[in-house]
Amino acid sequence: MIRNIIDNIIADKTYSIEDLSTVLQCNGDDRQYLFKKSQEIKEKYVGKKVYFRGLIEYSNICAKNCYYCGIRRDNKALERYTMTNDEVIEAAMFAYKNRYGSIVLQSGEISSPAFVDNITHLLKQIKELSNAELGITLSLGEQSEETYQQWYEAGAHRYLLRIETSNKDHYEKIHPNDHLHRYENRLQTLNILKKLNYQVGTGVMIGLPYQTYENLAADLMFMKELDMHMCGMGPYIEHKDTPMCTWNVELLPIEQRYDLTLKMIALLRIMMKDINIASTTALQAIDPIGREKAITIGANIIMPNITPRKYRDKYFLYDNKPCADEDAEDCIRCLEMRIKFAGGEIGYNEWGDSKHFFNKPSHE
Ligand code: SAH
Ligand code: SF4
Repeated sequence: MIRNIIDNIIADKTYSIEDLSTVLQCNGDDRQYLFKKSQEIKEKYVGKKVYFRGLIEYSNICAKNCYYCGIRRDNKALERYTMTNDEVIEAAMFAYKNRYGSIVLQSGEISSPAFVDNITHLLKQIKELSNAELGITLSLGEQSEETYQQWYEAGAHRYLLRIETSNKDHYEKIHPNDHLHRYENRLQTLNILKKLNYQVGTGVMIGLPYQTYENLAADLMFMKELDMHMCGMGPYIEHKDTPMCTWNVELLPIEQRYDLTLKMIALLRIMMKDINIASTTALQAIDPIGREKAITIGANIIMPNITPRKYRDKYFLYDNKPCADEDAEDCIRCLEMRIKFAGGEIGYNEWGDSKHFFNKPSHE
């Protein structure tokens, strides 16, 4: 029965949210079947290559107050920082020299003109210093269409903005009810990014309070219907200084959130065969080889952290973040081994763009 559903998904036949929800709850041989198939589909459609995105956590200043996040505005138990431009350039050049192919610039959400213009300036500089060879992904939250346009023209070509949960009611439970946290705006923003010709990635957290299997199944359907080019999903991990952490709701044990994340990745891979799927750091926070397992069963992107060490322990979105005390150089060596172990090869010096973005017949 579950195998039939999996085969139907692979054959692009119709399937329902209930079907996806059933697969998300599978165990034993069915679970192995899912992982075997997702591995096959991955190798067939996107190959064995794993692409690096050097992650630069530019600033932990944020205007928003998401209930789950450690760097939310109202967390006073946190020293705030913004990297200097020299530090950003140095990190980007580290990625370039080490043949990473791409970087991701991520931060809390700030929309001041000074912030926006500085990002533009940084983008231009990084492009120039890398002979336009370094690909740049941004993950700087919700911004205006003009801002996104300006950043695109300055050299950014991919954008990550998780919907967090595709269910409006659920979204409203996990965010404050004010103009900064509107589900409609987040959705609209994803559409604007697509319109501007960015390769767009979204995703959700897995194991959130009040989240059901149906919600997660609907999240997968949402990504397919929105025809996203990339996806980053990870387990929700508590952060002690957040409101969500004090909620009196029963959560899935952390190992189950982890297992569910692997199943979400595997299912998405068989649903959207040629997209880029990131193996997120939060997986590694739970299992030391969590990211490698995700690579084996369907993910093809890894985001090694190249933020200067002195800032690492200040960008805590959740507790137990891995690698906070490792140097970027250490991470490279261990990563190479880890990816080989997961049966992958590293796509050095390549942007590793989403094949789906180019394969789409509707794309001009
Ligand atoms: N401010 C930007 C980018 C930085 S936050 C934005 O929100 O889009 C990046 C991601 O971290 C968020 O999208 C969210 O999914 C994730 N995140 C935040 N808190 C988390 C937590 N407690 N556990 C797991 N992921 C978390
Ligand atoms: Fe800010 Fe992003 Fe954290 Fe929300 S998830 S509080 S927008 S950094």
